[in-house]
Amino acid sequence: MRSTQLFFKTYYDDPADAEIISHKLMARAGYLVKTGAGIYTLTPLLWRVVKKVMNIICEEMDRSGAQEIMMPILQPFSLWKESGRLDGYLKANILFNLKDRKGGELALGPTHEEVVTDLVRRSVSSHKDLPVILYQQQMKFRDEIRPRFGLMRGREFMMKDAYSFDADQEGLDKSYETMKAAYHRIFKRLGLRYVVVDADSGAIGGSGSQEFMVTAEAGEDALMLCEEAGYGANVEKAVCIIPDAPDGGEPKEMRKEATPEIKSVEQLCEFFDLPASRMVKTVIYKAVFAEDEKVVAVLMRGDRQINEVKLENRLDCLALHLADDETVRRVTGAEPGFAGPVGLAEEVLVLADESTKGMTNVLCGCNETDYHLLDVNIGRDCETPEYLDLMTAEPGDRCVLDQTKELTVVRGIEVGHIFKLGDKYSQSMGLKFMGKDGKQHAALMGCYGIGSTRIAAAAVEQNHDGDGIVWPHAIAPFHVVLTVAGKKDSDGIAACETLYSQLMEEGQDVLLDDRPIGLGARLKDAELMGIPFRILFGRGFKEGKVEIKCRRTGETADIGLDEISAWMESRVSE
Ligand code: ATP
Ligand code: MG
Repeated sequence: MRSTQLFFKTYYDDPADAEIISHKLMARAGYLVKTGAGIYTLTPLLWRVVKKVMNIICEEMDRSGAQEIMMPILQPFSLWKESGRLDGYLKANILFNLKDRKGGELALGPTHEEVVTDLVRRSVSSHKDLPVILYQQQMKFRDEIRPRFGLMRGREFMMKDAYSFDADQEGLDKSYETMKAAYHRIFKRLGLRYVVVDADSGAIGGSGSQEFMVTAEAGEDALMLCEEAGYGANVEKAVCIIPDAPDGGEPKEMRKEATPEIKSVEQLCEFFDLPASRMVKTVIYKAVFAEDEKVVAVLMRGDRQINEVKLENRLDCLALHLADDETVRRVTGAEPGFAGPVGLAEEVLVLADESTKGMTNVLCGCNETDYHLLDVNIGRDCETPEYLDLMTAEPGDRCVLDQTKELTVVRGIEVGHIFKLGDKYSQSMGLKFMGKDGKQHAALMGCYGIGSTRIAAAAVEQNHDGDGIVWPHAIAPFHVVLTVAGKKDSDGIAACETLYSQLMEEGQDVLLDDRPIGLGARLKDAELMGIPFRILFGRGFKEGKVEIKCRRTGETADIGLDEISAWMESRVSE
């Protein structure tokens, strides 16, 4: 491709709405154009990148035995009603939906469990028809609350989604491992640094799940890792061991203290001269279910934070919010800031974090404005709540696999997610087959997603410098860019043309920058665009040498034309 023919434009300034470096660089280098909020057009440059990502995914999926299909984007509501997911998705406002001319209700596919289950139930009738793994690569549509960061969180994005169907748990475990191995091959080939962590299963449902995370500062996810013990989990899911709170001693009599204007844990610590770990705080939530709403109080040790993802999962609700002030007043009888476990309204469901179990003589809110309770003994002074793990793990906490080791935190971008769904969809949608025992069984499913457009953004987030993008070789839009320093250097131009054809014949993706602009501007654009190698026909060409530069390391060399391929080859394999 010649730059004069390539449909592209580079910019000097960052777009006003770009917050993270990948979005800024991709916009400035002319890779993407915003069409609407969370909606982007990919220019030829970026489409080349995304297609390379998709090809690698496709090859490794095929190698694993999965078969490619193409499912429709338009999905009838009737399927979503069958699976029981319609209400939740509508309530969360994530589903783009529309009506056809006859009034039929349709969704733009945010994911395809329903469609694929419908497909497979039509053709599978016996255990002999299983296992099967199907996949597709297609645009997904989600009306995200906060579309942002360019391709990172779009409202329309490319996903590879695969679905496995097995006759029994052993089969599902095997399909899951097959997909996981394919994912490792994919992310290695893409040239990205990544980790695999235990994940929350979220709205899709099911049992076990893991996420593939590209490590980068701008990642929206916090990952708790213990490399020595081999533990890794998304903070949404991470479990931890924390030191016991200081002993509260033998139970004493509960007493009330005036605490005017003193509400926060820090203020209370100072006022009572007590560590936060001797306090039990009470946070009031509202959980939304399909039929109704419920007020929930969560008791947590004063020095620790509530993990709302764990809470939402335990409640199995459609949505969870902090209760509004009015609700807090109704159930506690006090202004916000004084909630406690003693004397809460009947309607409140009280849950407590396991860390508060066995604590004696704790400090709590009083459910009375400007008062707190001292020496509270939960279970004596109020009913024993249900104890659950509702805590957010923090760096420095002990690892559950090896208590002598500490957890550390890194930021990650979720690029892949693999789930064991079990029979959630096959039960509700009737995907049954005749087992070896002659009885009908529901098939066991797994689902496996990769965000192909998000990968492009994640790759830039992880691979850039002050001059621009530094594409991993496997997904760079072009491998090498050629240019001639002098506009009138006819020998250089002729040799450059020959090299251009020759490299293309070798299978390289080559860009020839033949734009009639200053050399400085051409070289700057090559850096900004992130092309792995640059070859310049300059003064040295009189001696038969060109200048070659490696984008990643900045290494340059004057070499002969016949040395070019080997030079690049050796840098790629590093
Ligand atoms: P997230 O937690 O980031 O919202 P998710 O858990 O909802 O993602 P999945 O349903 O697991 O996402 O989708 C599979 C993959 O699709 C994700 O691992 C991610 O790489 C990609 N993806 C999900 N949502 C988006 C989005 N809004 N824009 C771009 N890629 C996305
Ligand atoms: Mg996910």
